[in-house]
Formats: sequence, structure tokens, C-alpha cells
Amino acid sequence: MVNWADLKIAIILLGPPGAGKGTQARLLSEKFGFAHISTGDMLRTAVKNGTEQGVRAKTFIEAGMLAPDEVVDGIVRERLQQEDCRRGFILDGYPRTLPQADTLQALFAQDVIRSFTIGISVKDDVLVARLGGRWICPSCNRTFSRQLSSGSLKGLCDKCGVALTQRNDDAVEVITERLRVYREQTAPLIKYYQERGTYFQIDGDQSPAKIFYSIRDTIAKRDGADRATAKGAAR
Ligand code: AMP
Repeated sequence: MVNWADLKIAIILLGPPGAGKGTQARLLSEKFGFAHISTGDMLRTAVKNGTEQGVRAKTFIEAGMLAPDEVVDGIVRERLQQEDCRRGFILDGYPRTLPQADTLQALFAQDVIRSFTIGISVKDDVLVARLGGRWICPSCNRTFSRQLSSGSLKGLCDKCGVALTQRNDDAVEVITERLRVYREQTAPLIKYYQERGTYFQIDGDQSPAKIFYSIRDTIAKRDGADRATAKGAAR
């Protein structure tokens, strides 16, 4: 069993837009108390607040393109220094490019971190349907889908009671661009993490609960194997 209290764990959730990274990050964060770091949420907040980072990222987000690496790297670097990341954190939407992955490796090297990259795979037609039917709570950032939640049917967030909205970048033309960008710039990270032996793929075309259990079990199994190897080496 993983002794979650002992470890600083980084869980990187990798997958195309609509794969369910945000939902899984929230479940993992609620269950294990790790900080949930969503670069998309942080950038949208920066845009809303008109910060310098938000101003630099705005046009890229609207076009379905990636914000510049140095903007996102800066946001993540600051965030990881906060107290709630001390035990561990879940990265939802970062890294998304090879240079971002290198930046993250350099940050990991400064600390004792066990990292797991979980790739959530989902077919394109399922993603397009999911994103088109996705509703967001502007207050808590939870997402709802037409199929899965009673909240979305009433048009209100289950938790906050606030009216749900749709993201501008979930419009069909922008979704196509975001999927193209994912394939071109983010999918190469699969090989990057496979080569480091920290990549695990999960079938994302299942219920959120099943995906969550798969992620939890994958990490627990890997952690057990690593500990056994470490014990053997110490003998
Ligand atoms: P998300 O909410 O994760 O789908 O992100 C929404 C948008 O924010 C993306 O389409 C990008 O424009 C931008 N974004 C989020 N994370 C990153 C990142 N790691 N690198 C560059 N741009 C990002």
C-alpha cells in the first residue's frame, strides 16, 4: 500500500482536451489532499483579472493555441512554492510542450519527488461530443456534462447553485484546433515520460469513478514495486 503521508508525490495528468483531467484531478485532490494545479483555470483567472500574464495569454487561449511557455512556466513555478503543495500536487494541463516538461524536470530535481504521469486516452469523436456538451461552474470551476450530471440539466452547479456557463474555447472550430495542437505539441510527451519509466496509460472512455480507481490502483501498484526494489537493493 502507498503510504501517502510519507511521500511528496507529483501526479501529471496528460491527455487531450475533454479527456477528464480536471474531473480526475479534483477526485484525486479530494481523496488524498494533494493540491490541484490547473494551468487552464489559473490562466482564465489571470485573463479575467487582467494581469500581465493574462494579457499575454488571452489571444492564444481564445484561438485554441497554447500560451507561451515562459508565461505558463512562471505561473506553475510560483504555485508550486505554496504551502499546500508540500505533500504533493496534481498537475492538470501542465506540461503541454517538451520545453515545459524540461522545466518541470528541473523543478523536480530540486526536491524529493516521486512523479507519475497518467495518460488518459479517449477517441477524438468522443472528445468532440464531450466538449460540445460541457458546462462549467464559473464559481468553483467544476465541469458538468449533459449526460452525467443532474446539475447541468437544471443549468445550476450542484455545489454552488450558480448558473453554469460554456467555455468560448469549447466552440466546435476551436475544439478542432485544440485537438490539433494536442497531437502536435503535447502528445510527444507520452514518449518523453515513457523513456523515463513514469508513464501509465488509462482508458478514458469509462465512468469517472472507474478511471479514478484505475489511476489510484496504478499508482499504488507501481509504488509497491518501487519499494520492493529499493528494499532488495539495500540488502
Ligand atoms: P485547459 O483548461 O487545460 O483546457 O486550458 C485552456 C487553455 O489554456 C488551453 O487551450 C491553452 O490555451 C491554455 N493553457 C493551459 N495550460 C497550458 C499550458 N500548460 N501551456 C500553454 N497553454 C496552456
